[in-house]
Formats: sequence, structure tokens, C-alpha cells
Amino acid sequence: MKENKKLIYLDSMATTPVDKRVFEFMTPYFLENYGNADSVDHDMGLRAKEAVKTAKKEISSLVNAFNSEIIFTSGATESINMALKGFVKRLLRIKPSAATEKIKIGVSPVEHKAVLNVLESLNEDNLIELHIFNCDDKGRLYLEEIESYCSKSPHLICVMAVNNETGNIYPVKEISEIAKKHNVKYFCDATQAAGKIPFEFSNWGIDAACISAHKMYGPKGSGALIFNKDFLIDPIIEGGAQQKGFRAGTLNIPGIVGLGKACFYSETEMAEDAKKMIELKTHLKKRLCENIGDIVFTGDDENQISSCLYFAVPGIINKAIIARVRNKLCISTGSACNSGLETPSHVLKAMNLPEEIIEGALRISFMKDTTIEDIDTSANIIAKAVHEMKRLV
Ligand code: PLP
Repeated sequence: MKENKKLIYLDSMATTPVDKRVFEFMTPYFLENYGNADSVDHDMGLRAKEAVKTAKKEISSLVNAFNSEIIFTSGATESINMALKGFVKRLLRIKPSAATEKIKIGVSPVEHKAVLNVLESLNEDNLIELHIFNCDDKGRLYLEEIESYCSKSPHLICVMAVNNETGNIYPVKEISEIAKKHNVKYFCDATQAAGKIPFEFSNWGIDAACISAHKMYGPKGSGALIFNKDFLIDPIIEGGAQQKGFRAGTLNIPGIVGLGKACFYSETEMAEDAKKMIELKTHLKKRLCENIGDIVFTGDDENQISSCLYFAVPGIINKAIIARVRNKLCISTGSACNSGLETPSHVLKAMNLPEEIIEGALRISFMKDTTIEDIDTSANIIAKAVHEMKRLV
């Protein structure tokens, strides 16, 4: 993970490298055991099928689900499309009156664009009635508002487990209990939670959730949708009968093996990693405060994952800092899906933060192998850029 000596990579929430141990488990499935898991008239196919079974066990162990609840996809975005569009498609098919009554879906305003854009496009197509919850200036949701919405018998609510910009942890168990009480289905985007904090799909009574391998040292292009037997969906990718017809297409065996092993190592090392991340975060906060002074940390610092720090220096535009540090540091202005665009963060906008904080927001997310020295160097580089900028304004 340390090959790129010149750059300090602190953007693990955008993506992570593949853990070498995971990579070694994957390689035989490219080169030797390249069978198709659905072509089992020979040993090569059977080996692929066995590998899928093992991966399902590793995933279900990490997220507390049943093997039968897991469908492999190309990542969280596809899983989200499959869950949300599939849910609406199925309801419209079995209950055509839903087209006139409208399928009601409530969503948090801080969801990833993969969730918000899918729901907004279903809304624009007049297939659903979308309700967007509120949040406070720390990005916290109001559980009484969610409860009040659920009491009006909507069909589905969507609230993520961990936010990809602020690192906020949402009270998934409580939200799930509210949904259950009112007989409302609950979809939870667990992409940034799985492998970092405990996530208990079955015990917490969640109906559907998604995960992605590349956020936990597995390969890109591999993820899963986890859904229980009561979350009814129609497939959106049709073709062969793979994966019980829910997602047609030949299984990506190396990707699935990679996802499974990424889950395995995350589960085994989660507690130890979390301890180290707390140290790194405390140290970085201290160094930034000492070196910069007027720094504002955003999000809910009492309920935040320890591998992420989101902050701004009021009056200093994030892009200007990025431009000054980019040849030494990999940090970001927020969501990887937004950072190529000139649009301000919808998460910070929903939090109603002042313009100068929104325009200054920077996200640092640590890696498993980030060291205290990396943090010291990074804090110095950022502080130097900030002071240069301050001299200019
Ligand atoms: N949901 C969240 C919370 C994310 O952070 C991401 C990726 O940034 C996604 C969904 C999309 O994941 P993928 O890249 O696997 O499609």
C-alpha cells in the first residue's frame, strides 16, 4: 500500500487500494480457476461456485445477514439502482393502482447522489412521491420527523449508515425500529459503514442494504445488495437465470472473492483499526488547530467514524488549497462523485452551513497504513497552503 512514496494518500472514503492478501486470493480466479460458477458440469465451474459460497459466508458474517439474502453486483451504485428501481417496478406491476396513488418514499437529504439521483429521477417520471427529511447544522436527522412521516404509511424510507462526506454515523437500529413499528420498508446505504463499524442487517431489522468492496480494501466493480424475503423487487438487469433471476449476467468471480476476503479482513481487524484511527484523528485535529487556528470541523463529532475528518478554514476556498497540496497529498473536497463537478456539496447545503464553510470544505480520510508521521507531514503541508492563501486575501 506504500508504493507511491511521493504522495500521502488520505482519501480512503473515495476508494482504497486492494489489500495484498485480498489480491492474492483473487489472482487464481483470473488465471487458473477461471470457471463459470453457473457452468458446473466440470470441476472448474464447481470451484467457482464454491468460491461464491465462501464469499457469501464472509459477507454475511461481516454484516449479520443470511447467505440467501446476498446478490452480487458491480458496486453500491448498481445495488442502489437495483433496490430502489426494482422496488418501484415490482409495486407498480403487482399494484397498478400505485401509479395513481403514488408510491411514497422518504429519504435523508445527506444521502449519496447514487440514492438521491435515482429517487429524483423516479420522482420526475411521476412514479413516486418523494419526501426529503431535514437535518440540523451537524447533519443529524430528526427521528421524530422520520417517525411522523412513517406514521403516514409511506412505502419506503432510505437513510444511510455513514455519510461519505461528514463521516456521520446515523442511528440505523433506531430508524429501523421506527420503520418496523409502522410497517414501512427500510433501505440503508451501508457503503461507508461496512467494514468500519458494526453493521447488523438482520439483528437491526433492516430490509435492504448495499455494500461496495473498494471502500474496504477490495477491488473496484464489486459489491452486493443484501435484502430480506419481505423486500420485494423486480430485476432491472434481465437476461440469464443467474442469482435467482435478480441480476442476470455471468458472476465476476475474482471480484466476488475479493469482496468476500475484504469483508473477512475488515471483520477480523475492525476493532484494532478503529483504535488506531482514533489516535490519528485526535492527532490531526490537534496539529491542524495548532498550525492553523481558525479551523471549523463539520459534522456530528459525537457520532462520526474515526477514519474521517471534514473541516474548513473560513474564507479559504478548498480548491485553492487542493491546488497547492496536490503534488504531495491526496485529499478531497468531499464526495468523489461530486468533486469533478463545480457544484457545492449537497450535504453541507442541507446542513445550512455558511457559504464560506461550504466553499472551504476538505475531507481527509485515513488509510489502514497511515502513520502519525504522515499526519504530521500532511498537517504541515495544509497549514503552509492555508498561510500562503491568507497572505493573498
Ligand atoms: N454510497 C456511498 C455512501 C458512497 O460513499 C459511494 C461511493 O462513493 C456509493 C454509494 C457508490 O459506490 P460505488 O462506487 O461502489 O458505486
